[in-house]
Amino acid sequence: MPQSGPDPNSGFLSQFSNSEELGEHFSPAPAGYVRGRTRFVVVIGTVMSGLGKGIFSSSLAKLLKDKGLSVAPVKLEGYLNIDSGTLNPYRHGEVFVLDDGLETDMDLGTYERILGQNLSRKNFMTAGQIYTEILECERRGGYLGRDVQMIPHVTGAVKMKIRELAMTGPTTGPKGKQIDVVFVEVGGTAGDYENGFYIEALRELAFEEGDGSTCFVALTYIIEPAILGEQKSKAAQLGMKRLMEAGIQPHIIACRAKNPVTPKVAQKISMFSNVPMKRVFSMHDRDSIYVIPDAMRSEGLDREILSILELHDRVDTVAEDAARKVWSTFASRLSGPRDHQVTLGISGKYAALRDAYASIDKAVEHCGVALGAEVQIRWLDTSDVDTAEHAATALEGVNAIIVPGGFGTRGIEGKIHCVELARIQRIPFLGICLGFQMAVIEYARNVLGWKDANSTEFDSKTKHAVISELPDQKKLEGIMGGTMRLGAQDVAITPNSLASFLFVGSKLVRERFRHRYEVDPVFIDRLEEAGLVFSGRHPQHAIMQVLELPLTSHPYFIGAQFHPELTSRPLAPQPVFMGLIAAAIAQKEPSFAQTPTGRRWVRSASTTPTANSHS
Ligand code: GLN
Repeated sequence: MPQSGPDPNSGFLSQFSNSEELGEHFSPAPAGYVRGRTRFVVVIGTVMSGLGKGIFSSSLAKLLKDKGLSVAPVKLEGYLNIDSGTLNPYRHGEVFVLDDGLETDMDLGTYERILGQNLSRKNFMTAGQIYTEILECERRGGYLGRDVQMIPHVTGAVKMKIRELAMTGPTTGPKGKQIDVVFVEVGGTAGDYENGFYIEALRELAFEEGDGSTCFVALTYIIEPAILGEQKSKAAQLGMKRLMEAGIQPHIIACRAKNPVTPKVAQKISMFSNVPMKRVFSMHDRDSIYVIPDAMRSEGLDREILSILELHDRVDTVAEDAARKVWSTFASRLSGPRDHQVTLGISGKYAALRDAYASIDKAVEHCGVALGAEVQIRWLDTSDVDTAEHAATALEGVNAIIVPGGFGTRGIEGKIHCVELARIQRIPFLGICLGFQMAVIEYARNVLGWKDANSTEFDSKTKHAVISELPDQKKLEGIMGGTMRLGAQDVAITPNSLASFLFVGSKLVRERFRHRYEVDPVFIDRLEEAGLVFSGRHPQHAIMQVLELPLTSHPYFIGAQFHPELTSRPLAPQPVFMGLIAAAIAQKEPSFAQTPTGRRWVRSASTTPTANSHS
């Protein structure tokens, strides 16, 4: 029976004031929360990490969202960092930034892209966040004399946060504002030290929410040693035991494997884990992650989840058919033939590690599908590039160049040489964040002749610090405390510019930022007089956010102080990337510019109003 949560107005920690009455149960919930209304799908890995839990959970969430259900994912990280901002991309892949400025794990990018939905800090939890809140509360005397314990205090905080997320649903309609299904992804694997309290909290949550409220999915791995040439289920069985020791009986088992899981292995797993065969699924490797939702559907995984959670009556089949069609078209275009071939050079310092640039990789993929182009990526580690000639050799034959974001001195001069190559040889170019800053420095050095032009990030004493940290401006924006400008900000677009062409005349767009340095306003006039155009600015302050070269001097040269890759979606590719790939195609095949897609994305003299036509 659904029942109301505790008094909302008291805030969850202050409920300890009557902790004697609460006894050993601590089950906090926010204002108006109705137990049993929101359902939970909890995905826990066993055997090993790196199985694609994020892709699995987001594909499953998408299937349910397509059926008209409201969904919200949350990733629970076991590490003690407060967020992912300080993590090295070599170890953890790229840092993904949300609209509200939270620096998160790259899995949140997967959720946003697959679900086509913006997330916030409510969708991400770390052990560091939870402990910090608990310890701060303890210092304020919030626990009123009680000893503060992993159970019930830490687990209580986790349950509270998950229920708070459940309260972010649509504000209208009979369901109130509760989300239909919250997808909880537990980082790491069952048995890890770090995530034990999350698993315990989820066990409690399932118990408190009642039967039929929670579906536990164990994502496991079936090994297939080359020397044996057959699948073995033992590691998966042991992993499942680990989970069951923690008091969790999985409802569904999803088996990651290289090849389809054999019936013999599925039967063993079913028998040892009390899960009927119809709920043991083979999630073997596929050519593309985009076919996973369809594969899940054809195996009946979504149907089983709906049955376990008793959600069949909330399904909107008309919405599902429509959404399914759109997605299948995308997936089949992805695997279908491509009319164009282009090579894109990406000049960064983590070239050896694709995960460090995961969102750029994805944004390029989205554009390739939309434009019917196969985009080969050539990664270049700029740490080894010390001359423009060297850049030219390494990037020989590329049709477009991206200089991505980054921090620190390594590889900087190499990036500047890559910008120079793109500018002089008229190769379509996109500079992102640090790449935008490198484009300004390159212009100052090689066009204005200020050989010492630099960013104060790399040379604090230079006379021509065209890029510098401007604390006053930060104060104006109210960004105190943290030293980075993070999250979504408005960008005012200059009419009749390349940026305006790409954003179809929008005067204001919203993009995501993550930077500390920016163009020093002192140099703006000189740079513009020399031909560089700042076509995107902060609406109130002198913060330059987009730069470009006029069509008369370059077919496509653009830089963004923001990170356009973070907002690209499979069904809505980001315009700055679309323009880049379209320009690359058009340079190789001029007739492309005359096609309907080409006319939309390739800016040419005919699509560009001249200065005269406007005066
Ligand atoms: N290091 C530069 C800055 O802090 C660029 C940051 C980035 O590329 N994300 O401004």
